[in-house]
Amino acid sequence: ALQAGIVGLPNVGKSTLFNALSSAKAQAANFPFCTIEPNVGVITVPDERLIALEDLVHPQKVIPTTVEIVDIAGLVKGASKGEGLGNQFLGNIRNTDAIIHVLRCFDDDNVIHVDGVVNPVSDKEVIDTELQLKDLDSVDKKLAKSEKAAKSSGDKEAIRGVEILKAMKAHLESGKNARSFEVSVEDKQKHLNDLALLTIKPVIYVCNVDEKSVVSGNKHTEAVKENVKDEKAEILFVSAQIESEIAVMDSFEDRQVFLEDLGLTQSGVARLIQATYNLLHLSTYFTVGEKEVRAWTITKGFLAPQAAGVIHTDFEKGFIRAEVIKYEDFIKYKSEAACKENGKLNVEGKEYVVQDGDIMNFRFNV
Ligand code: GDP
Repeated sequence: ALQAGIVGLPNVGKSTLFNALSSAKAQAANFPFCTIEPNVGVITVPDERLIALEDLVHPQKVIPTTVEIVDIAGLVKGASKGEGLGNQFLGNIRNTDAIIHVLRCFDDDNVIHVDGVVNPVSDKEVIDTELQLKDLDSVDKKLAKSEKAAKSSGDKEAIRGVEILKAMKAHLESGKNARSFEVSVEDKQKHLNDLALLTIKPVIYVCNVDEKSVVSGNKHTEAVKENVKDEKAEILFVSAQIESEIAVMDSFEDRQVFLEDLGLTQSGVARLIQATYNLLHLSTYFTVGEKEVRAWTITKGFLAPQAAGVIHTDFEKGFIRAEVIKYEDFIKYKSEAACKENGKLNVEGKEYVVQDGDIMNFRFNV
């Protein structure tokens, strides 16, 4: 499953937010969440299309897709050199597909700040620096190899690789995250993707604010906004403390009244989950049969074999072709057979880019 990791300095509100997410089951019938490990929660992706398909097909089972949220604790200054949980922590980030970066934007003398003063911009830079140092290690290692290869072979691609890596190195050394590095899709695929850089992962900044600031922010959130403006990242104002209060309210009406009093229509938890789906560039395809109707999560732009690989790696390896019906056609004609009769079942090959809502049937060799 796709995974988003919650990061941030100690004491900024990560676990409060994570706990609000995991106890928010009742609150968001829309976003059922369950904790599978102490620091890993799974959210079911709500999808009305599954209900419509169920009504037509009457399968034995309906299986929605999920996204995992991981609370990654333990990052402190020096983590890239092994301080704190150091490398273990960074390894956890390496496995995630996106980052939820929590920044403390509330003043409260009762909650100790690790540096003694509330400053979300410098907090963010502490975390970013650790991740950038780790990325620099990865770039340096590959650069050394690539330079050798370029010299001995004189190969054009190898020389291009060296150019890109040197530019990335300079970018990271200037204190910037890899995600703001300008590079063509092709160069990125050829020369950078294999590095799995930490600071290239998409990010949402969550400003953890006091209850007065959930709607319009405060001086701390303004500073954050200014600081991240080049990253094209989404910034959310959430009060982890309020979220934890909302999460334990039993009645829907009580929660709505509480939210309205704060000037909100939706809880921060719901807003965060939605932002996470968008951030992950998720797309859904379906498999439809009498046994089960199931939603599968892929990244936008996946080709048919990659999409098949989400079900099983053998499907990807032995991929022959895919039969595709558009969701709207299935709803209109009401069955696979009827779609076929009306010319709405397309046979697609290895180069087909799977679209959101496609109903797929894969043919493969085992
Ligand atoms: P973590 O170390 O980042 O996981 O931080 P925690 O979630 O454990 O929170 C650290 C402390 O800050 C706890 O005492 C929380 O109760 C408190 N805290 C978290 N969020 C808020 C908030 O929005 N407002 C206030 N005033 N305190 C908060």
